[in-house]
Amino acid sequence: MRVVFGDGTLAQLPEEAERLGMGRILVLSTPEQKDQAADIAARLGTLAVGLFDRATMHTPVDITEQALAVVQSLNVDGVVSVGGGSTTGLGKAIALRTDLPQIAVPTTYAGSEMTPILGETKNGEKITLRTPKVLPETTIYDVSLTLSLPPAISATSGMNAIAHAVEALYAEERNPIISLMAEEAIKALAKALPIIVADPHDRDARHQALYGAWLCGIALGSVGMALHHKLCHVLGGSFNLPHAPTHTVVLPHAVAYNAAGAPEAMRRIASALGAENAAQGLYDLSRRLGAPLSLAEIGMREADIEQAVTQAAARPYPNPRPLETAALRRLLQNAFAGKPPQ
Ligand code: NAD
Repeated sequence: MRVVFGDGTLAQLPEEAERLGMGRILVLSTPEQKDQAADIAARLGTLAVGLFDRATMHTPVDITEQALAVVQSLNVDGVVSVGGGSTTGLGKAIALRTDLPQIAVPTTYAGSEMTPILGETKNGEKITLRTPKVLPETTIYDVSLTLSLPPAISATSGMNAIAHAVEALYAEERNPIISLMAEEAIKALAKALPIIVADPHDRDARHQALYGAWLCGIALGSVGMALHHKLCHVLGGSFNLPHAPTHTVVLPHAVAYNAAGAPEAMRRIASALGAENAAQGLYDLSRRLGAPLSLAEIGMREADIEQAVTQAAARPYPNPRPLETAALRRLLQNAFAGKPPQ
């Protein structure tokens, strides 16, 4: 995969498209980023033949089918995804079915552009698959495109990225290089995010955060994830909770759950955060960012906790501590109420 990273790098998009032999590009975005995507399509000039602006969280298959109809009718030969994980997901879903080349232009810290993973939803169920077919050929990281990411979304998107690095540090297949990258990523994001929340236009902090997110994406794509990601997949897939805020709320609790099972990872997470304790350090960072601390405030119903426990315990991901139903229930009750991690 090819990566272009910097400030103002979007200027290289036409050249990168031509490098991949693209001449009839469909630009993808969410409805909220339609204007930004239209500007980018305009920069591509005659290389762009259309804009599809209906990308949606959790990559619903019916939206993918709508996009595929446009791909076919316009005889598209490549896609450019401008946006966060939702838009990158749509590009991946199109590539899975057509083998078309993709250029990802990420504007959040989700990291999907670095992974061979695609999560799709159909009839309310989330199915995750892993195949190199969905990995974008090229990613263009342009710091200037992240300046418009609102502080609240920057905070939760950054915590979502940190979650990838945290779980990489205690992943079953962890390795020294990915651990090094994960620790560096947590350090960069923990430093940058409070500055961004105070001043979203601080270019140095935005640069650090995008660098951290890139590292986190590599970690996510390289080693398997554990309990935290399983819980978030259940909460997002079955209860439709928003992706990044869910990661933000659950992370300190999942880390507390795993603390005794992964002491070395805990030491490294705490050190990267500049905190004494990994779980508490993550909770304090979220609080400092003004991010949501409870599942209740992001739309979960208390009555759904029991079903979430059952689903999380079924087909668990490998985890440093075995899954115990009573402890999982306590974890979700604490996260629901926004209590400090225990
Ligand atoms: P998102 O893509 O849904 O973006 C959140 C909102 O912010 C959207 O309205 C978007 O248009 C807006 N936005 C994005 N960048 C902006 C900017 N620079 N300025 C202004 N507004 C901007 O959210 P996300 O958290 O990036 O992605 C979540 C989705 O990505 C989920 O579906 C999740 O499952 C998926 N994901 C997949 C992977 C993977 O490896 N497959 C990894 C991470 C996330």
